[in-house]
Parts: sequence; structure tokens; C-alpha cells
Amino acid sequence: MTRHIAIIGSGPAGYYTAEAAQKHWAKDDGEDVQVDIFDALPVPYGLIRTGVAPDHQSIKGVSRRYEKVALTDNVRFAGNVMVGRDITIPELGQLYDAVVLATGAPNDRELDIPGHDLGNSFGSAAFVGWYNGHPQFADLAPDLSGRHAAVIGMGNVALDVARILAKTETEFAESDIVAHALDALRASNIETITIIGRRGPHQIAMTPKELAELGQLERAAPHVDPRDLPEPEEDAILEPGLRKSVTLLRDYAATPEHIRAEKHLAIEFDMYASPVAFHGDGKVTAVEVEETTIEKGRAVGTGKTYRVPADLVVSCIGYRTSPIPDVPFDERMGRFANDEGRILPGLYCVGWARRGPTGTIGTNRPDGYGLMEKIVEDIANGAIGRADKQGRKGFDALAQKRGLDVVTFRDWKHIEAAETAAARDGAPREKFVDVEAMIKARG
Ligand SMILES: Cc1cc2nc3c(=O)[nH]c(=O)nc-3n(C[C@H](O)[C@H](O)[C@H](O)COP(=O)(O)OP(=O)(O)OC[C@H]3O[C@@H](n4cnc5c(N)ncnc54)[C@H](O)[C@@H]3O)c2cc1C
Repeated sequence: MTRHIAIIGSGPAGYYTAEAAQKHWAKDDGEDVQVDIFDALPVPYGLIRTGVAPDHQSIKGVSRRYEKVALTDNVRFAGNVMVGRDITIPELGQLYDAVVLATGAPNDRELDIPGHDLGNSFGSAAFVGWYNGHPQFADLAPDLSGRHAAVIGMGNVALDVARILAKTETEFAESDIVAHALDALRASNIETITIIGRRGPHQIAMTPKELAELGQLERAAPHVDPRDLPEPEEDAILEPGLRKSVTLLRDYAATPEHIRAEKHLAIEFDMYASPVAFHGDGKVTAVEVEETTIEKGRAVGTGKTYRVPADLVVSCIGYRTSPIPDVPFDERMGRFANDEGRILPGLYCVGWARRGPTGTIGTNRPDGYGLMEKIVEDIANGAIGRADKQGRKGFDALAQKRGLDVVTFRDWKHIEAAETAAARDGAPREKFVDVEAMIKARG
């Protein structure tokens, strides 16, 4: 008997879940599986393509593992199909034994303070999507003509954004940053990037490797205000990764001014600073912050405020999943309402859509494998798995009836070849940044 599984989303969580299904049904016990992976974009791999920084090519290399899964007979990629628009969840439920939402968390969590809607202030999903060529954000056109940028948040996404704003053209040589972003960054006038965070060094979510990169930039030097550092002996209680990160912050605080002055661009850490308003006239010019102290790990305002100049603001404060019609949603957590991945009989979620925007790419692997165990359990106890499911045959008939232009994995390989052929010298690819161009490139 063939089991039919639909996975919505071709990012890490989607592919690890498919890999787990493949491994489970590799056993020769008279059952096999067909997995269809749908994506709204004509191109696969989710945030590996549109989130992970363009100058972190070795991390993007994980997609080769997903390609191995994709190139097998029982797993199929169906791109350019947006679930909720082109096909509904109940329709998929009629066709597949299990429907798995691996749709990630593509929306910015908003910083709901006065002035948040001023021009040239963006969330990181939009800004990162812009420099990574996500079709939804390719036209963002941030204005980099001002001297000051502010990046809000103390995690790795804030570090990515600050680093991308600080790098020189030569430093992008081997990256796949898209041409429109490279052009804009080449003309950028930014001289100061302030990374603003509500809490202090012991509460950052920045990992040592990413933090260390800030200290190795060609034209930029990071700086931490020594007054923000706790007493060195207090670091002893930290777990080793965080302790390393805090040691780097101590190094940045100790860099003499004359060394920093050799660099053209300053990256200032502004800690214990909670944004309370954006100021500007149509366009942002400053972020007003309130000084904080830490009480029981939480930032508490002191009432004392000051302004950080900012002609560009990028808020990197987290993400939310997009709701899909007919799927219960947890508004408070910003993800699908689920019990360890189970949403409703036959409907599941995994990855960022299940647990929110936390962890690394690798965290999605146990998530996908764990979910597949639950699906197998539900099949075994008869909760799901009726014999009349048509799977991909049924989807193909529906797609034809609806005139959906489904992009296959073979099509994607043509798109990929065209992107590789168009690459600048030394770069791995020049991405297509609009859906039409992608579809045209499949040949
Ligand atoms: C800026 C940024 C940088 C990062 N850098 C790193 C890093 O360097 N190292 C690291 O380990 N981790 C990094 N991460 C984290 C990593 O990207 C995530 O852990 C991972 O991508 C989450 O996987 P996912 O499959 O849940 O979601 P995603 O990767 O977001 O994939 C979701 C997919 O679902 C598709 N989709 C959404 N809605 C629909 C719909 N309705 N119909 C069809 N398809 C849909 C999307 O198009 C997308 O392809 C980074 C994250 C961000 C945001």
C-alpha cells in the first residue's frame, strides 16, 4: 500500500521531514510512500536561499543534502503552488494521508511603538529578503544615503544585517548577494551602525562565530561601551558558547580608539536600551530609547531616554508564521496551534511553523524525524490513512483543472543552471528576483 504525504514548504523542516519519511518507508514491508513537497515560490529551500546570509555560502551548502532527497522517485517538488490560495487545506486533506505544514515564519514581528511606520524603517524579513532576492521584497529599495543606521535586536539576524551593511564590495566577491543590493551597498554613505538591545551582554543571543566576524571586517570596527560589561568573574556562570560571545564583547570594549579610528565605519553596541519611539518627518531620523536595568532577567525601564541617530532602521526582533485558512492558529505565539506537531487529525506542522523562530538549521532535523514518528504512530493506530487517498495523481488532476503552472524539480535545475551561468566573476550565482523570470528560465 502506498502512503501519501503532502509537505507544504521546501525549507529545512520540509526536507528533513521528507527524508524521515523516505527512511521509514525504505523498509521492505509491503508499504511505500510518495511525498509531494509544495512551495509558494518556484525555487526550493526556503530560508537557506532567502534568509541565510549571502556571504555564508558554506551554510547554504546544506541544500545539497536536500537535493539528494529531492532526486529520488518517491519525493517530488511542486513549486509555484501557494497553499491557501491555489489549493486549500481541506482539499489536500482529501488527497493525502498526512498534510504537514512546514511553512516557516515569514512575517516580521512588529515593534509596535510610535513612529514604527515611518519611511526607511523595515523589519528584518523584508530587509534580509531584499538583499537575498526574495521576490516579495526585491523592490524594497532601502535608502542608504544617510550616515546612520540602527539595527534593533541582539541575535544573529541583527549581526547578519549589520555585517551586510558594513562590508565592502570586495568582501562580497564570493557571495550570492543580489545585484540590486550590491549596487545600493556600493553607493552607501553609512558611517555608523548602532546595534540596539534592551538587555545586556549576558542576555545576548549572538553566537561566537557570527560575533567574531564583526571584528574581522575590512572597513568597520565594532565597539562596546565598557560600562555595559558585568564584572569579569560573573561570566563564570554562563554556558560556554555565551561565555565566548561575552569574551568577544570584552575584546571589542578594549579595542583602543586609535585602532578603531583607522576604520571608516563604526559598529556601536548600545545595550540596556529599549526602543520607545521612532522620530522623523515621513522618513525615520532617530530611535528614541529608554535606559533599562535587568530585574530577574527582564529589562525594566528607568524612565531616562535619549535618541540614537538613524536614517535607516532594521528591526530584527523575531518572526511570525502566516495563518492559513482552516488551520487553527495560536495568535499569542504567532504559529499554528499544535500539540507537538499535531494540529488536527491528518494535519501537522514542523519547523518554525510548529515551534516558532528558534534554533539553527540543524534543529529542524530532529523536529522532522520526530514528527514522522508521530505520523507513523497515527497510521498504525488507524487515526489516519484511509485506503482511498489519491495523493499526487489526484493533485495533478486538480492542478490541470485549475490551470496551475507547477514548477518541478527538473525545472528548478534549469533555473539554477541559468543563475549559475549569470554569476559575477567569483560568485556562485546571480539569483532571479522575480517569479516571472524564474518561470521563464526553466526553459
Ligand atoms: C535572516 C536569517 C538568517 C539565518 N541564518 C542561519 C544560519 O546562518 N545558520 C542556521 O543554522 N540557521 C539560520 N537561520 C535559521 C534557519 O533559516 C531556520 O532554522 C530554517 O530555515 C527554518 O526552516 P523551516 O523549514 O521551518 O522554514 P523556512 O526555511 O522559512 O521554509 C518555509 C518554506 O515554506 C514556503 N511557504 C510558506 N508559506 C507557504 C504556502 N502557503 N504555500 C506553499 N509554500 C509556503 C516558503 O516559501 C518557504 O520556502 C536563519 C534565519 C534567518 C531568518
